[in-house]
Amino acid sequence: MPDIAGSSQSVKTVMEDAGVRATVSQNGFKTPSEEENNMTGGNHSPTGSARSRGSSSRGSPTLSYQEREKFDLKLFLYPLEKKYQCPICENVLRYPKQLKCGHRLCSSCFHELARVEPRCPLDQTEIDKDDPNQRPDHFDKACYGEILALEVRCKHHEWGCKWESDYKDFQDHVNNKCEYAEILCQNDCGAKFQKRFLQKHLDKDCPKKIIACPYCDDRHLREDKKTHLAEECPKLPLPCPNKCDKKLEIPRDELDQHIEEFCPKTKMVCEFEVIGCSHRCSREKMPKHYKSAMIDHVKSIFIKMTEQDERLNKHELALKENTDFIKGVDKRVGDLEKIANSQLIWRIEDYTRKLKEARAGNADTLFSPTFTTSKHGYRLCASVCLNGDGKGKGTHMSVFISVLKGEKVK
Ligand SMILES: [Zn+2]
Ligand SMILES: [Zn+2]
Ligand SMILES: [Zn+2]
Ligand SMILES: [Zn+2]
Ligand SMILES: [Zn+2]
Ligand SMILES: [Zn+2]
Ligand SMILES: [Zn+2]
Repeated sequence: MPDIAGSSQSVKTVMEDAGVRATVSQNGFKTPSEEENNMTGGNHSPTGSARSRGSSSRGSPTLSYQEREKFDLKLFLYPLEKKYQCPICENVLRYPKQLKCGHRLCSSCFHELARVEPRCPLDQTEIDKDDPNQRPDHFDKACYGEILALEVRCKHHEWGCKWESDYKDFQDHVNNKCEYAEILCQNDCGAKFQKRFLQKHLDKDCPKKIIACPYCDDRHLREDKKTHLAEECPKLPLPCPNKCDKKLEIPRDELDQHIEEFCPKTKMVCEFEVIGCSHRCSREKMPKHYKSAMIDHVKSIFIKMTEQDERLNKHELALKENTDFIKGVDKRVGDLEKIANSQLIWRIEDYTRKLKEARAGNADTLFSPTFTTSKHGYRLCASVCLNGDGKGKGTHMSVFISVLKGEKVK
C-alpha cells in the first residue's frame, strides 16, 4: 500500500466521522476525547469555526462536520469508480476501512455494521474483530488519499463557479472561498447574496452600512441618509427658494443669510416707507425705484417737513400761552401772600424723622418762613423745638414767635 503521507512518522490526521475520531501521530492513536482538544495536529490553528484546513500536505485530511452530509457524486469530474463507493451508504467512501475480503466501507458504516451484522454486505465474509485493521481509529489511508485526490467541481457550478480541483479542497472552497456561495450580510441587514456581490452590496445597497455624509461630518446608517439630508444636514447644498440663480446652490445653514442680505430676488419694502412710500419690489429692482421715485420721495419729505413745522409752531404757541399763564398765576400768588400773610400755615415736612432726631438731642430749632400780621403790620417768624425747650423738654413742644425788623418801604 503506498504511503500517501510520504512518511507515516509525520502523518497527522483528524477523523471526525460518526464512529471514528482519532489523530494518527507518530506516537500512535489518540483517544477521541484527546482529539477534541487537538483537532488538526500541529499545522493549523485548532480554533476557528472554519477549522482551518485545505492543508497542502497530502494525507492530512481534516474533514468537517459538513462533510458528513451526503456528497453529490455528480460533482466528480469523472464518474466515481465503484471501488471508491461505499456499498452501504452508496456515497463516496469516508475514512475507508478495508475488510479481509478486499471490499471497503466507510468507517462509520463499518462500525454500524459491526454492531448489528458483522459480515461484508457484498460477499458475507465475516468480519474479524481482532484484525488490527478493524481497530476503531484505523483506516485505509492510501485509498482515502486516492479519493481525496479525485477531481471535483464546485457545487455552485450551475450558478457560474468555474472552480475545479481536488476533492480534498472541496469543503474549504465551498465554505470559505467560493464567490458563488450564498452568504448573509455581515451587517445584519438580512440580505442574502452570492459572496461575489458582497462589495457591491456594501457599497451600494446595504441599509445597515455606516456611511459618511458627502456634505457634512456626520456618519450614519445608509438607511438614515434620506432623513439626514431631508431634515438635518446643515451643509446640504440647496437651491435658492427665490430661484435667483439656477446654478447657485447654498449650504442649508447659509440660506437664511442669503435671503436676508444678498438674494437679488428677495421682496423688500422701500426705505422711504416711514414717509409714506408703500412701494415693494425685489432687492435688485430697488435702485431703479429709488431713481425713478426720487421726486416723489422728496415731495413726501417736503410734506412731512411742512407737517412737522406746523406742529412745531403749534407747540411753540402752546408753550408761550402756558408761560403767560404761569406768570399770571405767580403774580396772583404773590398778591394773595401779601393779603393773607397775617395767618401762618406752616407745614413741617418729614415730621416723624425730625421729632426722632429732636428726642435724640441732635436737632436744631426749626424756623418758619417770615409773615406779617397785616399788609403794613409786624413782620414775624415762628420757631419750634419739637421735643420741647426749658421746662417743657421731653413733655411739650415749644413754639416761639419772634418779631423781626421791618422792611424799609420805598
Ligand atoms: Zn458508507
Ligand atoms: Zn467483501
Ligand atoms: Zn465555487
Ligand atoms: Zn447589508
Ligand atoms: Zn450631512
Ligand atoms: Zn437667492
Ligand atoms: Zn419708495
